[in-house]
Amino acid sequence: MTLNEPDGAGTFADLELRPELLRALSGLGYEEPTPIQREAIPPLLAGRDLRGQAATGTGKTAAFALPVLQRTARSGGTAPVALVLVPTRELAVQVSEAFHRYGRELGTRVLPIYGGAPIGRQLQALQRGVDVVVATPGRALDHLSRGTLKLHEVATVVLDEADEMLDMGFAEDIEAVLEKTPGDRQTLLFSATIPARIDAIARRHLRDAVKIEIGREAPAPGEAPLVRQNAYLVARAHKPAALGRVLDVEAPSAALVFCRTRQEVDQLTETLNGRGYRAEALHGGMNQEQRDRVMARLRGGTAELLVATDVAARGLDIEQLTHVVNYDVPSAPESYVHRIGRVGRAGREGVAITLAEPREHRMLKAIERVTGQRIAVEKVPTVADLHERRLELARATLRETLLTDDLEPYRAVAESLAEEFDVMDMALAAVKLAHEATGGTTDEQEIPQVAAARTGEGHGGDRRSRTTASGMTRLFFSVGRRAGIRPQDLVGAIAGEAGLSGGNIGAIEITDKFSLVEVPQSAADDVISALQRSHIKGKKATVRRDRPAPSKRYR
Ligand code: AMP
Repeated sequence: MTLNEPDGAGTFADLELRPELLRALSGLGYEEPTPIQREAIPPLLAGRDLRGQAATGTGKTAAFALPVLQRTARSGGTAPVALVLVPTRELAVQVSEAFHRYGRELGTRVLPIYGGAPIGRQLQALQRGVDVVVATPGRALDHLSRGTLKLHEVATVVLDEADEMLDMGFAEDIEAVLEKTPGDRQTLLFSATIPARIDAIARRHLRDAVKIEIGREAPAPGEAPLVRQNAYLVARAHKPAALGRVLDVEAPSAALVFCRTRQEVDQLTETLNGRGYRAEALHGGMNQEQRDRVMARLRGGTAELLVATDVAARGLDIEQLTHVVNYDVPSAPESYVHRIGRVGRAGREGVAITLAEPREHRMLKAIERVTGQRIAVEKVPTVADLHERRLELARATLRETLLTDDLEPYRAVAESLAEEFDVMDMALAAVKLAHEATGGTTDEQEIPQVAAARTGEGHGGDRRSRTTASGMTRLFFSVGRRAGIRPQDLVGAIAGEAGLSGGNIGAIEITDKFSLVEVPQSAADDVISALQRSHIKGKKATVRRDRPAPSKRYR
């Protein structure tokens, strides 16, 4: 199956998923499988091992969760039959939630296990029995050594975001956990990149694995259109506001906004209409008559935004379209190419805009690699940018009116006003009115800028300066070089157990007997409680705020 045919359909039903899963997917508004799901699900259902190169945003979680659910439905026992290892607490929660959503009708019991969560609840759940455990490697190992997690029944192991786990220093923990699972298990490894170390793990633990790579094939020459391509990194919570801001600045005459699911289409359409845009929803559930009506409103200019899923937008050719907006990063570079091909056709000018969450940054890079075109990552326009842009629009409107319109009918009004007012003041009033006509003035909220998610690189243990960076708090860890601690072990423990991303961790200093790590002030208490009496590289560690009088210890 080639990935160059996003139109080459194939439904979830074609993948022979159980009716309970199909109902869950349609309830979630998923209209069709993403490329990785299409390729991975059949071999996984057949019990094959798999090595998947796919970043966040490709739909990889469902690609492994659906087959696991199908194969483990109603195991009924107490010991887990599937284990998913993930690098961070945040991902453990997300992946568990995904399993829960898809497996609701099957009654699958899923438990996330990570540091920082009350251990009591995890113990109770484990005793009652769970089918799927989603764990950070450190915490999994903890439970294994306490004897509270039993892996002898595990039929499938998933290593999710394997490269991140290695970056965080979890390599040894992963090996130790895998050792406790049956030798005849099915093993899946997903990783955004496959450096030599990942390849080595795959060779050691996977047997006759199917290899899938998303974002590998370049589109045929000429397929990638020439359009201005921008992306904005925004936190999920700020996406609706960011979309509004970008639309205000871009002022498209007609835009097609892509969402992943029907639910998102409906929600976003409602949000946009609530914010004063004229948006219409288009999704696969609509009949031809409804679709025709929507299209007519767009063509006639009563609607300016069309919000759609990929399936619904199939075959649409809208002449007036100036902008394509990806409300999420598309699930494969090929779908990106396909979507933005809606603009920039036949020499028309077009703009493609993508809103990406920081963790989806890698997917943008994969798209750039495949298309050979750059996607400029811009800052979300500020309120000041918006003001400036609206003044520019007002100026352009007035200019055009001065150059092209017949203004004679207004002469009498202007002359009578001129008897009373200065002509310049009259011009200012005209600018004000033109400015107000460019849109509402209620959007005064700044949208927080975010940086791309970064993994644990660049945390040297060699920083000499002991001043704490502003906004950061220095934590003391009672383990150091003699305990074999390396920067990545600390980053791994903090990121994995306390849910901080590697990029948020500041300077790290490792001495023979202890280590100092800067973390954001706001996260310090969380980190301390998550790592209280934890093991780092198998050593017991106490963690607390570093004492404010360091001079004694450092001399
Ligand atoms: P992931 O790459 O696993 O992080 O998934 C990215 C997002 O895509 C998640 O929000 C999923 O809910 C969503 N998703 C996964 N598969 C599909 C699908 N077939 N159709 C629509 N959305 C999907």
